[in-house]
Amino acid sequence: MKQVRSPAGMQALAREMRRGSRRIGFVPTMGALHEGHLSLLDRARPLCDVLVVSIFVNPLQFGAGEDLDRYPRDIEGDASRCASRGADMIFCPQPVDMYPPDQSAFVVEEVLSTGLCGASRPGHFRGVATVVAKLFNIVLPDVAVFGQKDAQQVAVIKRMVRDLDMPVRIEVAPIVREADGLAMSSRNTYLTGDQRRQAGCLSRALQAAHDAFSQGERRATVLRAMMRAVVDACPRATIDYIALVHADTLAPVQAAGDTTLAALAVTIGETRLIDNTVLGDPPPLGRKG
Ligand code: AMP
Repeated sequence: MKQVRSPAGMQALAREMRRGSRRIGFVPTMGALHEGHLSLLDRARPLCDVLVVSIFVNPLQFGAGEDLDRYPRDIEGDASRCASRGADMIFCPQPVDMYPPDQSAFVVEEVLSTGLCGASRPGHFRGVATVVAKLFNIVLPDVAVFGQKDAQQVAVIKRMVRDLDMPVRIEVAPIVREADGLAMSSRNTYLTGDQRRQAGCLSRALQAAHDAFSQGERRATVLRAMMRAVVDACPRATIDYIALVHADTLAPVQAAGDTTLAALAVTIGETRLIDNTVLGDPPPLGRKG
């Protein structure tokens, strides 16, 4: 498996592959890869001839005081994990090679980016949209796979691709969870043992909403209150948001339906965790009974 560091080198390889009519599949990541990331490689593999994984901790999507400096990095471990799941190439640039010091062009999605995580992380989705646009221009993928774990990111990227006519198909893979339901995340490594146990409240809250929805409850206020009660029972958990929105438009709903996204962000100790479920999809912890 090839490791490519320079954006120009990666783009030259991508152009060559395209000239040879080879379909390029792409999985963008920030590394510290876990089974959630690797499931995206599994999803992409049969859709392409050449599978490229990018590993880049993107400074532009971190706010001041966020965890950019301590974000876990393990490029050699990641490389062997990628190879074991069929990647052909990893693209791992340095920030200086991605961002000129006087960069003044950015991609801003103006509607879907404002609520949910965008409200408490100003500039985050500008950083995400900009880096993904740059990565698409460098890797030239036919198909790119993203995780439902970051549902708002998926909505923003799909909108960017639609509105800017980017010639790439976006595929979305389901959330991969630990045995207790916690959504896998590179940030889970920040949690102490006690915090890790408490972190189960996110998926339990989503499960509570799912169970109530499948028993006929449709009132968003009631479903949100149920989720809030589960999280409030965890003394170390602080709620950032609990929301019921349309899965594509991210507009808040009053009455829940099959396409309603239940999403939450909760801080445990210092660690901000997110999770979500679409109420018409299978529930995070499985069906009752
Ligand atoms: P990150 O490295 O956190 O930027 O994530 C890279 C990609 O992996 C994104 O498309 C995420 O949505 C996806 N991802 C992260 N965690 C999971 C998970 N537990 N299940 C599925 N996809 C995930």
